[in-house]
Amino acid sequence: MVKAEGVHKSFGNVQVLKGIDLEVATGEVFCLIGPSGSGKSTFLRCINHLEKINAGRLYVDGELVGYRQKGQKLYELRDTEVARQRRDIGMVFQRFNLFPHMTALENVTEAPVQVKGESKATARERAGQLLERVGLGDKAKSYPSQLSGGQQQRVAIARALAMEPKLMLFDEPTSALDPELVGDVLDVMRDLAESGMTMIVVTHEMGFAREVGDSLVFMDEGVVVESGHPREVLTDPRHERTKSFLSKVL
Ligand code: ATP
Ligand code: MG
Repeated sequence: MVKAEGVHKSFGNVQVLKGIDLEVATGEVFCLIGPSGSGKSTFLRCINHLEKINAGRLYVDGELVGYRQKGQKLYELRDTEVARQRRDIGMVFQRFNLFPHMTALENVTEAPVQVKGESKATARERAGQLLERVGLGDKAKSYPSQLSGGQQQRVAIARALAMEPKLMLFDEPTSALDPELVGDVLDVMRDLAESGMTMIVVTHEMGFAREVGDSLVFMDEGVVVESGHPREVLTDPRHERTKSFLSKVL
């Protein structure tokens, strides 16, 4: 579903990604861990072309992200084509980024109506089902300010799902939450994983990575240091840098 080949990204003369190679299979839950500043968020943002990579290739579902290739040359896609690629990718951030002036239901119906041109009635019906699915069937009419952080984050997940994405990106979705609210959000993510969704999850929740993840990558200073099955990497890390990172977070 996702393939990165030698992905480089710099900001000015600061190299943030220094050749990332990895592959995420369809239906896989792919966890990404690493210290602050290692480039995890930047990598996620490259996947939906919020950042443009400087070198390498990035594919989603077999399609080059942001570019079209002719011979050896790459041509940038037009904005409308980038938008089409992004439509298939849901993203959930650390901060919930809900529209504050809209109810939970309106937040979830917004994109299908505005971007996909779905009828309001259809979008509303599906939004209701999605809110049920994330355990918030009774909060459809609440505004974000009337919801807890964990509830807001579940609305954000429902909102992303409303676009029927083929890939979901999570960037530390629970790290801004009070500890007692983390579990509900992780439960929703676990259900989503069980439904077969392909997910890339940047997280510090090692329990989630261990139980739900199919693969785990430890990234440091813009390179993949170690990857493998989460249980292997977490219990028997091979690299010193992985060991020292895990000793601080586990
Ligand atoms: P954290 O765990 O703190 O979220 P991260 O692994 O997600 O860290 P990134 O946010 O990807 O790290 O940042 C990697 C590096 O890139 C940092 O040094 C950051 O300052 C730099 N960086 C990220 N975005 C930009 C930008 N738009 N302009 C300049 N530098 C940036
Ligand atoms: Mg980050």
